[in-house]
Amino acid sequence: MQRAAYEGKAKRVVSQPDGTAHIYYKDDATAFNGARHEQFEGKGALNSQITERLFQYLIDQGIPTHHLGRIDERTLAATLVDIIPIESVVRFKVAGSLQKRTGLDYLTECDPPIVEMYYKRDDLGDPLINDDHIRLLGISRAEDVERIRDLSQSAAEALRDLFLKAGIDLVDLKFEFGRTAEGRLVLADEVSPDTCRFRDLATGEILDKDLFRFDEGDLLAGYRKLLAHLDRALGADVQS
Ligand code: C5P
Repeated sequence: MQRAAYEGKAKRVVSQPDGTAHIYYKDDATAFNGARHEQFEGKGALNSQITERLFQYLIDQGIPTHHLGRIDERTLAATLVDIIPIESVVRFKVAGSLQKRTGLDYLTECDPPIVEMYYKRDDLGDPLINDDHIRLLGISRAEDVERIRDLSQSAAEALRDLFLKAGIDLVDLKFEFGRTAEGRLVLADEVSPDTCRFRDLATGEILDKDLFRFDEGDLLAGYRKLLAHLDRALGADVQS
């Protein structure tokens, strides 16, 4: 069922009479399933700008997304979808929960990249699941899971190429998918420093939510720097 309004930890989604959704990016940052929570004035606007650029880039690369355009400084318009309760994580290098689960060194190369599925259930702590669990839960058809995996891989690789041009190492990222009223499967939610790990290739600086998760530095400064690098890379694309 598509609901009229949905309040998430970092966004508010309000459905519109014309079948679109307005996605309002809040200034809230949460970590460890909501155990840590702070506000950073300007974070919502920054994440909306970063997501807008990345979705537009992915659309240009032929990846179907829910993105439609901008409403205001911190609100994006999207096609209304039913979110599939799967978080698809693509990893190019070891970090975070994969590092914990495997004991491998931080930033060990994953070649080929790893795709993981997590069950989107805050009350269960978003557990790692496999295809058999997905079948058991009945949350997605086998062909959809295959498509989610394929789209995740292609979108992640396209983004890694873009970020390389921006001088940034894309370590890992999380995607969510939704189904439109017409039954199309599309990339949804957001793609931002809240949902990806980014490292500055020149300096090794962290430019994502790990700044907040692990008190590694100034979150807003990191997000601003990421956007500036990204804009340079996209500008260079336009001229070439
Ligand atoms: O914590 P973990 O290492 O599994 O996270 C992998 C990637 O997925 C990170 O980029 C993280 O920001 C993102 N993620 C997310 N939302 C979650 C869990 C992870 O955006 N609920």
